[in-house]
Amino acid sequence: MTSTAAGVVVVGGGQAGFSVVSTLRASGYDGPVTVFAAEPHLPYQRPPLSKKAHVEADGIRVELVPETFYRERDIELRIGDAVVALDTAAATVVTRAGEHFSYGHLVLATGARNRPLPVPGADLAGVHALRSFDDALTIGRALATVRTVVVVGGGFIGLELARVARARGADVTVVELADRLLSRAVSAQLEARLRERHERAGVRILTGTAVQALQGSGRVERVATSQGVLPADLVVYGIGAVPRDELAREAGLAVQDGVVVDEQLRSVSDPRVSAVGDCARHPHPHADGLVRLESVQNAIDQGALVGRRIAAGSPAPYESLPWFWSDQGDVKLQIVGLRSASDEVRLVPGDSPERLAAYAFRDDRLVAVETLNWPAEHLAARRLLERGTPVSNGDLAGTTLGALARARRAVEVRT
Ligand SMILES: Cc1cc2nc3c(=O)[nH]c(=O)nc-3n(C[C@H](O)[C@H](O)[C@H](O)COP(=O)(O)OP(=O)(O)OC[C@H]3O[C@@H](n4cnc5c(N)ncnc54)[C@H](O)[C@@H]3O)c2cc1C
Repeated sequence: MTSTAAGVVVVGGGQAGFSVVSTLRASGYDGPVTVFAAEPHLPYQRPPLSKKAHVEADGIRVELVPETFYRERDIELRIGDAVVALDTAAATVVTRAGEHFSYGHLVLATGARNRPLPVPGADLAGVHALRSFDDALTIGRALATVRTVVVVGGGFIGLELARVARARGADVTVVELADRLLSRAVSAQLEARLRERHERAGVRILTGTAVQALQGSGRVERVATSQGVLPADLVVYGIGAVPRDELAREAGLAVQDGVVVDEQLRSVSDPRVSAVGDCARHPHPHADGLVRLESVQNAIDQGALVGRRIAAGSPAPYESLPWFWSDQGDVKLQIVGLRSASDEVRLVPGDSPERLAAYAFRDDRLVAVETLNWPAEHLAARRLLERGTPVSNGDLAGTTLGALARARRAVEVRT
């Protein structure tokens, strides 16, 4: 157990920041721990904001833990207190109120912000992006009164919101610039099936379509696109996120669409600074080169790794298997592993019509699995990929990962 001289300072009270501080205490770290959290809320989880619970956002509790958790563990939580500058030579952060605060080790857990919609009219009333709890409240209230919703961006958040709006009776159109939905995140094979399900639920989807302007007098009324004009009482856009890496950049630390860290998640420019979660760009054994991942799993696992490293002084590389989920109406999409565009993808039907899997192979080795409404297959994939046992296309001929995992377990038990 070690105590860093001036303690650990975490900038960002989100999923990753929470994981750092809870792990620090759980691992026996007894030095000072301070979290600067810019939002006026206790650290909370974002996934419910765009899903079913969003419908009753006014009533839902999304905090990760109650306030007593921090008090009982002597974690100083500075809610509504943003850090505006970082001085690595002096090992201090500067808060918006002008306070200089020293650190022994600094963890940047600042997350990401929404990419702005770069078209005229994006500042009209009735145009929103979703990232924070407050955004969810605003959109949730608006959904109670609008009839026509245009969702700009066919990514995870856009599709989740499209189904929430549809479930609330709105007329919903998703406008996507690329020629398909989820073009970076999901294979073309699985995407086609996902699209069918959304269209069956009454969501209109326009791919290969550019939003050119949002129009209306004071409030949005129309969306001008390359395929014509759409009426809109509400526009929600989700066209990607950019990492909040400006503190690091302005302090002269290496930044490349995210704070560049080594395999232990330390800044490559300063070992007294770590970065975790959406704001970190890091090496990963499953990726070619550096990656930046935006997922709850990544935020939790990276935070825990850094918390353990600081508490116990035990260096360990970040190697967690990436996984992700997205609930889009009646579709649960789950992904494990990192697929690349050149991987060979095979679709495998499940034992009921709504279940489907896509297996991705690289050099005839399973590297990623996408599933629709098939959690058991996702879990089997996670177990197999976590173990690192090679699985080839031939191993999966005429069978599923669940069945293969069961067969392999049976062999292990016998031997
Ligand atoms: C609507 C929505 C739905 C999602 N759904 C899923 C899902 O289904 N599955 C999944 O795996 N992932 C999902 N994600 C992604 C997931 O929530 C993020 O990957 C995760 O929250 C990242 O954690 P983080 O701590 O890095 O960032 P965040 O949780 O974003 O927290 C960063 C915090 O740092 C604060 N901050 C930033 N700068 C400063 C500063 N200078 N000073 C003080 N505080 C600062 C921010 O205000 C923010 O509260 C979703 C994200 C959104 C927005």
